Amino acid sequence: MLTCHIVQDLLPMYIEGLVSEETARDIQQHLAGCPECEAYYQQLITPVQTETELVEVQEIDFLKKVRQRFTKRLAVILLLVGLVFSGAAYLYAVGQPLRSDEVDVTRKIADEQLLLDFSKPKTGFLKVTSKVTVNEDGSYVVELTPKKLLKMPFDDVGEGGFSWAWVLNTEQQEELTFVIKFKDRELVFEKDDF
Ligand SMILES: [Zn+2]
Repeated sequence: MLTCHIVQDLLPMYIEGLVSEETARDIQQHLAGCPECEAYYQQLITPVQTETELVEVQEIDFLKKVRQRFTKRLAVILLLVGLVFSGAAYLYAVGQPLRSDEVDVTRKIADEQLLLDFSKPKTGFLKVTSKVTVNEDGSYVVELTPKKLLKMPFDDVGEGGFSWAWVLNTEQQEELTFVIKFKDRELVFEKDDF
């Protein structure tokens, strides 16, 4: 007869199939009549989640959380970068409308052309955007908006003024209105106002 402690010592080898047939039979007989050793045997053969597996699961959860946090942070960073770029684009490329005291405009007619000379602005450099609207009655409205741009780093664009010309064709442009849109007011004149 095997004693309990011998059976329990042999159980790992028995589970691995490393004991002789006779010993295996003795162990089986003992287990059949000994609830304590049977319980120990069941404990040995039940696959348990080991501590390392638990740690790994926790690590995966932790990584998931980190990744989610990182994704959120990345989204915020991308949003901020986008805002900075559109802000820079606004200052450097789109420009801000100039007030009427920040730029001088002189106008004259020469060689059938209307010439508008915008002076150099006090800060930044000048960009003049224009928009021509032809109304249904054939009248023309020419809108000019002087804008101030920041000087780009490495940009060699001069900080001078800007000259703008409009070829006057009296037959087609019977009604011709110019609007210079400053930030604070609009300067409106007709082609005959010279
Ligand atoms: Zn026993």
